[in-house]
Amino acid sequence: MSDAGWGLCKDCRWWKIEPHAAVQNLTMGVCIDEKLRPFELRVSGISGCDRFDEGKPHRGEGASDMPPASGAG
Ligand code: SF4
Repeated sequence: MSDAGWGLCKDCRWWKIEPHAAVQNLTMGVCIDEKLRPFELRVSGISGCDRFDEGKPHRGEGASDMPPASGAG
């Protein structure tokens, strides 16, 4: 990886997925990063960006909807 700040959504604390979804490559969720949240980005486990921050995903109902529910939690 050339950019040390870049990482995958499935390893990022700003990834929000459904309450019982598995943390897998093709699981869909929403990005709740402070700067990206307004865009309601629907991202998979193998999506990624340089706003990455390692941690466990948040969980919440509607995280995989279209558009996704990006509320806190
Ligand atoms: S898009 Fe970036 S900040 Fe958002 S969950 Fe994925 S890696 Fe994290």
